[in-house]
Amino acid sequence: MKQIDCDIIQDLLPSYSDKVSSDATNKLIEEHLKTCKKCNIALNNMNKEINSEIVKNQKEQIDYLKKYKKNKIKTIIFTIILTIDIIIGIFIAYMLLNNKEAFVDVNDVNVEYMFKLEDGEKEELRTYLYSEKYKKHFLIGNKYEIVDSEGNKEIYLKIAVKGLINLSFDGTGNSGRNEFFELDENVKKIYIEDKKGNLKEIWNKDMKVMSADEWKHWYIDSYAPQEIVKAYGLRYDLDIHWTQWYYTFQWRHLVK
Ligand SMILES: [Zn+2]
Repeated sequence: MKQIDCDIIQDLLPSYSDKVSSDATNKLIEEHLKTCKKCNIALNNMNKEINSEIVKNQKEQIDYLKKYKKNKIKTIIFTIILTIDIIIGIFIAYMLLNNKEAFVDVNDVNVEYMFKLEDGEKEELRTYLYSEKYKKHFLIGNKYEIVDSEGNKEIYLKIAVKGLINLSFDGTGNSGRNEFFELDENVKKIYIEDKKGNLKEIWNKDMKVMSADEWKHWYIDSYAPQEIVKAYGLRYDLDIHWTQWYYTFQWRHLVK
Protein backbone atom coordinates (compact mmCIF):
# COMPACT_ATOMS: atom_id res chain seq x y z
CA MET A 1 0.00 0.00 0.00
CA LYS A 2 2.86 2.31 0.86
CA GLN A 3 4.38 1.64 -2.59
CA ILE A 4 1.11 2.50 -4.28
CA ASP A 5 0.86 5.67 -2.25
CA CYS A 6 4.32 6.69 -3.40
CA ASP A 7 3.46 6.04 -7.05
CA ILE A 8 0.29 8.12 -6.78
CA ILE A 9 2.06 10.90 -4.87
CA GLN A 10 4.91 11.02 -7.40
CA ASP A 11 2.34 11.21 -10.24
CA LEU A 12 0.91 14.23 -8.48
CA LEU A 13 4.24 15.85 -7.62
CA PRO A 14 4.72 17.69 -10.97
CA SER A 15 1.41 19.59 -10.54
CA TYR A 16 2.31 20.17 -6.87
CA SER A 17 5.73 21.49 -7.81
CA ASP A 18 4.14 23.74 -10.42
CA LYS A 19 1.64 24.89 -7.74
CA VAL A 20 -1.35 23.97 -9.83
CA SER A 21 -2.73 21.14 -7.73
CA SER A 22 -5.85 21.57 -5.58
CA ASP A 23 -5.72 22.25 -1.83
CA ALA A 24 -7.00 18.76 -1.08
CA THR A 25 -4.21 17.22 -3.18
CA ASN A 26 -1.65 19.53 -1.58
CA LYS A 27 -2.77 18.46 1.85
CA LEU A 28 -2.55 14.79 0.91
CA ILE A 29 0.93 15.23 -0.59
CA GLU A 30 2.24 17.27 2.35
CA GLU A 31 0.92 14.64 4.79
CA HIS A 32 2.74 11.95 2.81
CA LEU A 33 5.97 13.96 2.54
CA LYS A 34 6.20 14.25 6.31
CA THR A 35 6.93 10.56 6.55
CA CYS A 36 8.31 9.55 3.12
CA LYS A 37 11.95 10.25 2.42
CA LYS A 38 11.74 8.76 -1.08
CA CYS A 39 9.04 11.18 -2.23
CA ASN A 40 10.89 14.11 -0.63
CA ILE A 41 13.93 13.19 -2.67
CA ALA A 42 11.73 12.91 -5.77
CA LEU A 43 10.28 16.37 -5.11
CA ASN A 44 13.73 17.88 -4.49
CA ASN A 45 15.06 16.44 -7.73
CA MET A 46 12.04 17.78 -9.58
CA ASN A 47 12.57 21.31 -8.17
CA LYS A 48 16.27 21.17 -9.03
CA GLU A 49 15.45 20.20 -12.59
CA ILE A 50 12.99 23.05 -12.91
CA ASN A 51 15.53 25.53 -11.50
CA SER A 52 18.26 24.37 -13.85
CA GLU A 53 15.76 24.59 -16.69
CA ILE A 54 15.00 28.21 -15.76
CA VAL A 55 18.71 29.07 -15.55
CA LYS A 56 19.28 27.39 -18.90
CA ASN A 57 16.41 29.35 -20.44
CA GLN A 58 17.72 32.60 -19.00
CA LYS A 59 21.18 31.87 -20.34
CA GLU A 60 19.74 31.14 -23.77
CA GLN A 61 17.77 34.38 -23.70
CA ILE A 62 20.85 36.38 -22.73
CA ASP A 63 22.86 34.67 -25.47
CA TYR A 64 20.10 35.44 -27.93
CA LEU A 65 19.98 39.10 -26.90
CA LYS A 66 23.75 39.38 -27.13
CA LYS A 67 23.70 37.84 -30.58
CA TYR A 68 20.81 40.09 -31.60
CA LYS A 69 22.67 43.18 -30.39
CA LYS A 70 25.83 42.08 -32.20
CA ASN A 71 23.86 41.48 -35.39
CA LYS A 72 22.18 44.85 -35.08
CA ILE A 73 25.56 46.60 -34.75
CA LYS A 74 26.82 44.60 -37.73
CA THR A 75 23.77 45.69 -39.76
CA ILE A 76 24.28 49.34 -38.84
CA ILE A 77 28.00 49.22 -39.75
CA PHE A 78 27.18 47.42 -42.99
CA THR A 79 24.53 50.03 -43.87
CA ILE A 80 26.96 52.89 -43.17
CA ILE A 81 29.69 51.30 -45.31
CA LEU A 82 27.21 50.60 -48.10
CA THR A 83 25.94 54.19 -48.01
CA ILE A 84 29.51 55.55 -48.15
CA ASP A 85 30.27 53.18 -51.05
CA ILE A 86 27.20 54.36 -52.94
CA ILE A 87 28.11 58.02 -52.41
CA ILE A 88 31.72 57.40 -53.52
CA GLY A 89 30.40 55.42 -56.50
CA ILE A 90 28.10 58.22 -57.59
CA PHE A 91 30.92 60.73 -57.14
CA ILE A 92 33.35 58.65 -59.24
CA ALA A 93 30.70 58.09 -61.93
CA TYR A 94 30.04 61.83 -62.00
CA MET A 95 33.75 62.62 -62.25
CA LEU A 96 34.23 60.08 -65.05
CA LEU A 97 31.24 61.35 -67.01
CA ASN A 98 32.24 64.92 -66.33
CA ASN A 99 35.71 64.28 -67.71
CA LYS A 100 34.48 62.43 -70.73
CA GLU A 101 35.09 64.30 -73.94
CA ALA A 102 32.14 64.54 -76.27
CA PHE A 103 31.74 65.48 -79.88
CA VAL A 104 30.89 69.02 -80.82
CA ASP A 105 30.15 69.90 -84.42
CA VAL A 106 32.54 72.50 -85.78
CA ASN A 107 29.55 74.29 -87.36
CA ASP A 108 27.97 74.77 -83.94
CA VAL A 109 30.94 76.78 -82.72
CA ASN A 110 31.40 80.39 -83.75
CA VAL A 111 34.12 82.93 -83.37
CA GLU A 112 32.36 85.59 -81.41
CA TYR A 113 35.20 88.03 -82.02
CA MET A 114 38.92 88.17 -82.59
CA PHE A 115 41.57 90.81 -82.42
CA LYS A 116 45.27 91.08 -82.91
CA LEU A 117 47.42 91.98 -79.94
CA GLU A 118 50.88 93.27 -80.74
CA ASP A 119 53.33 93.10 -77.92
CA GLY A 120 56.77 94.19 -79.11
CA GLU A 121 57.94 91.63 -81.62
CA LYS A 122 55.17 89.21 -80.72
CA GLU A 123 51.85 89.14 -82.45
CA GLU A 124 48.98 87.25 -80.96
CA LEU A 125 45.53 86.51 -82.29
CA ARG A 126 43.03 86.46 -79.47
CA THR A 127 39.76 84.76 -80.17
CA TYR A 128 36.63 84.03 -78.26
CA LEU A 129 34.85 80.89 -79.36
CA TYR A 130 31.29 80.34 -78.33
CA SER A 131 28.64 77.73 -78.90
CA GLU A 132 25.04 78.41 -78.01
CA LYS A 133 24.21 74.76 -78.54
CA TYR A 134 26.86 73.46 -76.13
CA LYS A 135 26.81 76.31 -73.68
CA LYS A 136 26.12 73.97 -70.76
CA HIS A 137 29.45 72.26 -71.30
CA PHE A 138 33.07 73.22 -71.27
CA LEU A 139 34.47 73.86 -74.69
CA ILE A 140 37.96 72.43 -74.83
CA GLY A 141 40.62 72.72 -77.48
CA ASN A 142 44.00 71.26 -78.34
CA LYS A 143 46.27 72.95 -80.81
CA TYR A 144 48.55 71.37 -83.33
CA GLU A 145 50.40 72.68 -86.36
CA ILE A 146 51.10 71.47 -89.84
CA VAL A 147 54.13 72.95 -91.57
CA ASP A 148 54.74 72.30 -95.26
CA SER A 149 58.14 72.00 -96.98
CA GLU A 150 58.22 75.76 -97.64
CA GLY A 151 57.67 76.51 -93.97
CA ASN A 152 54.03 77.59 -94.35
CA LYS A 153 52.22 76.92 -91.15
CA GLU A 154 48.59 76.03 -90.47
CA ILE A 155 47.29 75.90 -86.95
CA TYR A 156 44.48 73.54 -86.01
CA LEU A 157 42.44 73.73 -82.87
CA LYS A 158 40.82 70.39 -82.22
CA ILE A 159 37.65 71.05 -80.27
CA ALA A 160 35.36 68.97 -78.09
CA VAL A 161 33.09 69.50 -75.14
CA LYS A 162 33.62 68.20 -71.68
CA GLY A 163 31.48 68.02 -68.62
CA LEU A 164 27.92 67.05 -67.85
CA ILE A 165 27.27 70.58 -66.83
CA ASN A 166 29.39 73.65 -66.59
CA LEU A 167 29.14 75.00 -63.08
CA SER A 168 31.39 77.96 -63.69
CA PHE A 169 30.40 81.46 -62.72
CA ASP A 170 26.85 81.68 -61.47
CA GLY A 171 26.01 78.12 -62.47
CA THR A 172 24.14 78.95 -65.62
CA GLY A 173 27.05 77.58 -67.58
CA ASN A 174 28.80 78.99 -70.57
CA SER A 175 30.90 77.24 -73.12
CA GLY A 176 32.86 80.30 -74.18
CA ARG A 177 36.52 79.66 -74.74
CA ASN A 178 39.31 82.19 -74.97
CA GLU A 179 41.92 80.90 -77.32
CA PHE A 180 45.16 82.69 -78.16
CA PHE A 181 47.24 81.92 -81.22
CA GLU A 182 50.79 83.12 -81.59
CA LEU A 183 51.26 84.54 -85.04
CA ASP A 184 54.46 84.69 -86.97
CA GLU A 185 55.04 85.36 -90.67
CA ASN A 186 54.75 81.64 -91.44
CA VAL A 187 51.26 81.20 -90.04
CA LYS A 188 48.88 81.28 -93.00
CA LYS A 189 45.64 79.81 -91.72
CA ILE A 190 43.92 78.81 -88.53
CA TYR A 191 41.19 76.17 -88.37
CA ILE A 192 38.96 74.67 -85.79
CA GLU A 193 38.44 70.96 -86.21
CA ASP A 194 35.93 68.60 -84.64
CA LYS A 195 36.40 64.94 -83.72
CA LYS A 196 34.96 63.83 -87.07
CA GLY A 197 37.62 65.81 -88.88
CA ASN A 198 35.30 68.58 -90.10
CA LEU A 199 37.20 71.81 -90.52
CA LYS A 200 36.22 75.45 -90.30
CA GLU A 201 38.65 78.17 -91.23
CA ILE A 202 38.54 80.94 -88.66
CA TRP A 203 41.49 83.05 -89.78
CA ASN A 204 43.85 83.53 -92.68
CA LYS A 205 46.68 85.98 -93.19
CA ASP A 206 44.63 88.14 -95.58
CA MET A 207 41.80 88.59 -93.12
CA LYS A 208 41.36 92.01 -91.60
CA VAL A 209 40.88 91.78 -87.84
CA MET A 210 40.55 94.44 -85.16
CA SER A 211 43.56 95.73 -83.33
CA ALA A 212 43.51 95.44 -79.55
CA ASP A 213 42.65 99.11 -79.28
CA GLU A 214 39.80 98.87 -81.77
CA TRP A 215 38.59 95.81 -79.96
CA LYS A 216 38.49 97.62 -76.62
CA HIS A 217 36.30 100.37 -78.09
CA TRP A 218 34.02 97.91 -79.80
CA TYR A 219 33.84 95.78 -76.66
CA ILE A 220 32.90 98.66 -74.38
CA ASP A 221 30.67 100.51 -76.87
CA SER A 222 28.65 97.75 -78.41
CA TYR A 223 29.44 94.31 -77.14
CA ALA A 224 29.52 94.11 -73.36
CA PRO A 225 26.38 94.98 -71.39
CA GLN A 226 26.84 98.29 -69.62
CA GLU A 227 26.39 96.80 -66.16
CA ILE A 228 29.35 94.52 -66.86
CA VAL A 229 31.49 97.38 -68.14
CA LYS A 230 30.66 99.29 -64.96
CA ALA A 231 31.07 96.32 -62.62
CA TYR A 232 34.55 95.59 -64.00
CA GLY A 233 35.56 99.19 -64.45
CA LEU A 234 36.48 98.60 -68.07
CA ARG A 235 38.00 101.61 -69.83
CA TYR A 236 39.52 102.29 -73.23
CA ASP A 237 42.88 103.01 -71.64
CA LEU A 238 43.02 99.80 -69.61
CA ASP A 239 45.76 97.37 -70.42
CA ILE A 240 44.35 94.49 -72.44
CA HIS A 241 46.50 92.04 -70.49
CA TRP A 242 44.37 92.57 -67.48
CA THR A 243 42.60 89.39 -66.75
CA GLN A 244 39.29 91.05 -65.90
CA TRP A 245 38.69 91.53 -69.59
CA TYR A 246 38.66 87.80 -70.07
CA TYR A 247 36.34 87.11 -67.20
CA THR A 248 33.86 89.55 -68.60
CA PHE A 249 33.78 87.67 -71.90
CA GLN A 250 31.73 84.96 -70.31
CA TRP A 251 29.32 87.28 -68.59
CA ARG A 252 27.79 88.69 -71.71
CA HIS A 253 25.85 85.52 -72.28
CA LEU A 254 24.67 85.39 -68.73
CA VAL A 255 23.40 88.94 -68.73
CA LYS A 256 21.97 89.40 -72.19
ZN1 LIG B 1 6.24 8.22 -0.77
